[in-house]
Amino acid sequence: RNPVEQQEPDPSKKTLVVLGTGWGSVSLLKNLDTENYNVVVISPRNYFLFTPLLPSCTTGTIEHRSIMEPIRNFLRHKKASVKYYEAEATKIDHEKKIVYISDDSDIKGTISQNEVPFDMLVVGVGAENATFGIPGVREHGCFLKEVGDAQKIRKRIMDCCETATFKDQSPDEVKRLLHMVVVGGGPTGVEFAGELQDFFEEDLKKWIPEIQNNFHVTLVEALPSVLPMFSKSLIDYTEKTFKEETIEIRTKTMVKNVTETYIEAEYTDANGQKQLEKIPYGLLVWATGNAVRPIVKDLMNSIPAQKDSRRGLAVNEYLVVNGTENIWAVGDCAVANYAPTAQVAGQEGAFLARLFNQMAKTEEIESKLKDLSEEQGKAPNKESRDKVFEEIKDLQRRLRRVKQMGPFEYSHQGSLAYIGSEKAVADISWLTGNLASGGQLTYLFWRSAYLSMCFSTRNRVLVFMDWLKSYIFGRDVSRE
Ligand code: FAD
Ligand code: NAD
Repeated sequence: RNPVEQQEPDPSKKTLVVLGTGWGSVSLLKNLDTENYNVVVISPRNYFLFTPLLPSCTTGTIEHRSIMEPIRNFLRHKKASVKYYEAEATKIDHEKKIVYISDDSDIKGTISQNEVPFDMLVVGVGAENATFGIPGVREHGCFLKEVGDAQKIRKRIMDCCETATFKDQSPDEVKRLLHMVVVGGGPTGVEFAGELQDFFEEDLKKWIPEIQNNFHVTLVEALPSVLPMFSKSLIDYTEKTFKEETIEIRTKTMVKNVTETYIEAEYTDANGQKQLEKIPYGLLVWATGNAVRPIVKDLMNSIPAQKDSRRGLAVNEYLVVNGTENIWAVGDCAVANYAPTAQVAGQEGAFLARLFNQMAKTEEIESKLKDLSEEQGKAPNKESRDKVFEEIKDLQRRLRRVKQMGPFEYSHQGSLAYIGSEKAVADISWLTGNLASGGQLTYLFWRSAYLSMCFSTRNRVLVFMDWLKSYIFGRDVSRE
């Protein structure tokens, strides 16, 4: 095929615009027959990120590039060419069917803002980090959602250790600098705390023995337990493992304020009185879940049918955004009564691909049917009329088969989380119900499951090599 010719949209096809290159959108693109539409992808991130292994990048167990897959590399293997714009969608006008985009990269051309018209739109922009408006979080905390966040944390861990060992540093300051506080006891916070403690036990302690009496990880959680989505036995197992690993868990403790050197957290004392405590920290990782992105909020505000929705775009059972006809939403930005996980986003994306492939087939058959009925009317004799009639019947049968697509149904495969010291917890959906397991065997399962789920063979090989490298030589403690 001529790559230059392929750049021009085909006027006979509908334009399908896909926002985002995360779990939802990429799963859609992976399964979509791109020959049926003029496909345009818009995302400020020109790669797919395998988020389950992101916590391992904060300590250098895995290098971040091993879990990134360039979107252009993936798109060039599609049957028909797909247009990609590295840009952020800033506004969606659902009535005019236009997406407004902006190139916010460091290098700008003469045009850095533009409009992209669409016939069909898929919103897969994910979510942003929740801070609940708590002062100081954005200024002083580190999030853990993107590659840049993991790199920032990796640098800060080393910075805290090196600054703590600076000549004549006061004991209080050493303690503060080596206090690593994680806020949020969901899977992100738990996995990060586990990885960090491993880093200390297996590498930092050996390389910088001066820090070993003061390095300390604390996990702060507002609810009575960590990992609320796991079964009770696994919550207990995680809490017990953390105790053995000397990670302190502060449950029923709600952070209210963040300064450059300490957090202020509210807890209830033994007399039932609410107390405010200042907890000094060197590194603060903020992992309190998801919030709605501004572009999604703006779209929700412009659609009356979305007025009662708070956590994202309310969608119907075919993932159509309520109040629209030609906009679909997948993943963390959609509210379909499922947890905001990669598993859900991936299945939703694959469902939409099937739906769009089917819609294209339906349209093709319907247009053939229209042509045939005209042909039938003009047929010169009974014999040719009967022949066309048979063809029509055949196509009608095919149409009924193609149209038989049920609504989206999520199939939960289970939940997995790494909890440090080569242990993991898993709630796996089994034939007869749920299988809860925790420990080192589960950790091997965790490793093999995530290795097999990596985006490409290239990613798989790189992750495997990183694990081997860390195992043989230890993690790299140099600060970039
Ligand atoms: P994302 O994957 O976040 O992708 C959103 C995309 O939209 C990105 O490409 C982004 O650049 C782009 N975008 C953002 N704004 C705009 C805009 N304005 N215009 C255009 N594009 C935009 N889930 C699991 O099931 N299992 C796990 O083990 C697991 N581990 C996790 C570990 C971590 C550290 C984190 C943070 C999450 C983890 N999750 C896990 C959750 C999972 O990553 C999310 O649920 C999933 O990424 C959601 O997919 P998505 O496509 O909705 O959004
Ligand atoms: P989460 O929403 O699962 O957990 C956030 C936690 O922070 C909650 O338990 C909440 O009580 C706590 N919190 C909120 N405000 C607080 C405050 N002020 N002080 C103290 N605690 C506070 O968030 P997450 O862990 O980032 O996960 C987000 C989504 O991604 C979830 O759906 C999760 O299942 C998914 N995820 C899955 C995995 C996995 O399967 N291994 C890993 C990471 C993320």
